[in-house]
Parts: sequence; C-alpha cells; structure tokens
Amino acid sequence: MLTDSHCHLYLNGLADDLEAVLERAMENGVTRLICVGIDLATSLSCLELSESYSGVFAAAGIHPHEAGDVPDNYLHRLEELLRHPKMVAVGEIGLDYYRNRSDPAVQKKIFQAQIELARSLNKPIIFHNRNADRDVISVLKESNAGRGVAHCFSSDLNTAQAFIDLGFYISFAGNLTFKNSSLSEVARALPLESILIETDAPFLSPAPFRGKRNEPARARRVAEALAEIRGRPFEEVAESTNRNTETLFALPVT
Ligand SMILES: [Zn+2]
Ligand SMILES: [Zn+2]
Repeated sequence: MLTDSHCHLYLNGLADDLEAVLERAMENGVTRLICVGIDLATSLSCLELSESYSGVFAAAGIHPHEAGDVPDNYLHRLEELLRHPKMVAVGEIGLDYYRNRSDPAVQKKIFQAQIELARSLNKPIIFHNRNADRDVISVLKESNAGRGVAHCFSSDLNTAQAFIDLGFYISFAGNLTFKNSSLSEVARALPLESILIETDAPFLSPAPFRGKRNEPARARRVAEALAEIRGRPFEEVAESTNRNTETLFALPVT
C-alpha cells in the first residue's frame, strides 16, 4: 500500500477524469493521496475532494507563486479551512527563486506567516523550495518551524541533511527516475525513516512517461525507483514510506 504525499487533483484535467484517475491509483496500490492547495480557491477544492473520497486528504496554503496576490484576510481564511478534520497540513508554502513570480521579500513574509499558522494549529507544513536552499533553511530555523516535509526534493545531500536535522522529511517525486539525475545519490544516502514519496501530479511524470500528464497511480513508479536505488525489496520501501507519511500527517492507521 502506498500514499501519494503530494498531488494537485484540481489541475490540468485531473478533476474531469477523477473517478478513473482514482481507480488507476487504487489498482496500483496507491490507496491514499494528499491533495495540496496553491491558493485559497484550490485549498477549498482540496477540502471538497477530501469530503467526497475517503482516501483523499487535504492541505491548504499559499504557494510562493501566488504570494504576491493574497487578500488581506488570507490567514484567517486558511485557518477556517484548516479546522476541517481531513485537513492534514499547511501547504504548499515555501520559496521559489527559479521563477520568481512573486517578489522574494513577499514570498518570505507569506512563508513565515503560514509557518506560524501551522505552529498555532499544530499542523505539519509541506514546503516547496526551488533555488532557495539557503533562505528556506534560515526561515525554517528562525521560525522554529517544527515538522513537515520538503516536497519534490531536488537539492543536494547537504541540504537534505540540513532539513532532516531540523526535523523534516524528504519527499521524492518522479524526477528521481530521470536519467543523469544526481538525486539517486541523495536517495541512497538518506535514512529510509526520513523519506516520503509523491507524484506532484499533474506535473513531473516519472520515466518512461516523462512529459505526459502525471497522476497519483505513478507514485508506484517512484517507490519502485527508490527500491531499485537502495537495493531493497519494493515492499519494504512501500511500507516504510507509507508509515512515514501516516506518522507525519497523523493519517488514520491502516
Ligand atoms: Zn511545489
Ligand atoms: Zn505541488
């Protein structure tokens, strides 16, 4: 059994096709999914999907791309959403200095405010980090951020270790399967107790589906790649990543 710790079921047609998408996930042993918001509207969509499907859990947050465009009362509105029993985390939040769609200073401010919200509600965070290793680490340290996960990890081993030392899990997505990726060295070196898997669907389809629309069923492919990289049986990796996800997000024990 597997849990896709990060997907966006409301994007790029996944929602139109949802029954079939969830059925294929089940067929591949992906019985639970965490649907992660990127702004207020999509966080509400995640919540609604979690009410309709027992295996779907939700997270609410403002993505760094959207940080420049939040209403004044966004924290209050997030808090209302996060009181729902199927809301398991604040996310996705973070810093993205690759696309820089929002001003970095604004990104930082919104990231910090949401970490504080997560702390006050005693929820883990799901953070996005692109080309912002140093600032993400310093924000996490300064805000005493507690627990959560570095989603779609794509930095180096030292950064992974810094996140783990701060109490965070590392989540690998389909880019783990790409040829010439140095991520396999990171995935080999880390303790299995610190690793989650995800698809980030509809983005980042693993090989051999690279470039196609991704979906939660392919979390299986990520788990298979992780097992191959570590030279361990698939079942062991599946069991461990599933339990880690369960522990972090306080999912019902299966
Ligand atoms: Zn992301
Ligand atoms: Zn995402």
